[in-house]
Amino acid sequence: MTYNKKTIEDIDVAGKKVLVRCDFNVPLKDGQITSDKRIVEALPTIKYLLDKNAKVILCSHMGKPHSIFTEGFGLTKKEKAKIADLPEAEQAAATEALLAKAKVDDKKKFTLKPVADRLNQYLDGKVTFAEDIVGEDAKAKVAALEGGKAVLLENVRFDARETKNNPEFAKELASYAEVYVNDAFGTAHRAHATTAGVADYLPAVCGYLIQKEISVMGKALDNPARPFVAILGGAKVSDKIGVITNLLDKVDTLIIGGGMAYTFFRAMGYGIGTSLCEEDKIEVAAGILASAQEKGVKLLLPIDNHIGSHYDPECEDSFVASTDIPENFMGLDIGPATEIMFRYAIKNAGTVVWNGPMGVSEWDKFASGTKAIATAVAESGAISIIGGGDSAAAIEKLGFADKMTHISTGGGASLEFLEGKQLPGIACLLDK
Ligand code: ADP
Ligand code: MG
Repeated sequence: MTYNKKTIEDIDVAGKKVLVRCDFNVPLKDGQITSDKRIVEALPTIKYLLDKNAKVILCSHMGKPHSIFTEGFGLTKKEKAKIADLPEAEQAAATEALLAKAKVDDKKKFTLKPVADRLNQYLDGKVTFAEDIVGEDAKAKVAALEGGKAVLLENVRFDARETKNNPEFAKELASYAEVYVNDAFGTAHRAHATTAGVADYLPAVCGYLIQKEISVMGKALDNPARPFVAILGGAKVSDKIGVITNLLDKVDTLIIGGGMAYTFFRAMGYGIGTSLCEEDKIEVAAGILASAQEKGVKLLLPIDNHIGSHYDPECEDSFVASTDIPENFMGLDIGPATEIMFRYAIKNAGTVVWNGPMGVSEWDKFASGTKAIATAVAESGAISIIGGGDSAAAIEKLGFADKMTHISTGGGASLEFLEGKQLPGIACLLDK
């Protein structure tokens, strides 16, 4: 997918009211922000606009509030089970009480107030916080906004119309501003009111974060420096079929590791012990193997494995060839011979796209394969792109983040990008 979209630098924002969709969905623990990476990454776009004396209206979602917000009704599975245990006469009242409590609790749990406070530390107190989205408080604060100042609206997912991409809601939000900026790559694969809907009513451009995502990933996919090597791992084949299919037409080499390798082994007739396997995807895996051969793509699978007696960081472990996995063991990482083989394939790459760890890299004992591949990618000098939430986390944790060309900020969105899909939050922006 090639995108050539207008950015904040291609449109007049001086002194204008600008609505900016950010991804402020930061991790919180007991109301405290545990990593403000997403806030820091959003600053260049916000600062640019403030420097242009724009009146900046910021919005974002935070977490997954209870469906009482998103749907206006509904119990979670757990809540339903709890209610079902009660005598029938009490159920209605108990449901009401539960929903009322969820509404109060989640309002506290998923408020963007802590984000406003953190933004103010970085932006010298230029940000006010609105207690609602299109309610009285937000309307008053937006109306009173001065040039070079910003207001952050409350969590847009407190309004059920956000995820439904309701046009009335989008229109109301659009009425705040003269220009719309989308800088939330992580939600660009969703057509929601603040990620796509508002673009129907305002000139729409991207911020620096989305611009970087589409220029780096777009170039890698459309005009890659060769050899182009894709490395795919992670838990499931089913999550990555789209990515594999799209990349098979583009890459020179496809490396498959991680839990998904074992479904491929089954397709090849190997015994895999208790390793992860998706029975219903064995045929798909066989199809991918055949297709790679047909297209002349070199497809590499592990030749040996670091296996464990059960799924546990302290399990009994050993190393075996891929053809020799014992019945009562599971593959939890690639083995040392595979590390050498994969490193050799990556060494001279011009472009690397990597999605999915090579093993259970959350556990030190089974992180070696992922570490080895990260080292090889870093040393290759290739243009390297990491997509996927767990992959990004693994590479950061292992200390290789600054060695990669680009770590995509959006898990689901970067996967859909790699699948070659249109992302509604980007497609809706003005072309250059
Ligand atoms: P991403 O989020 O980067 O797309 P995935 O979610 O597909 O990656 O995969 C990451 C998960 O895969 C990790 O939780 C990791 O523990 C798991 N995983 C990798 N290899 C194995 C394996 N051999 N057995 C079980 N789980 C695995
Ligand atoms: Mg994941």
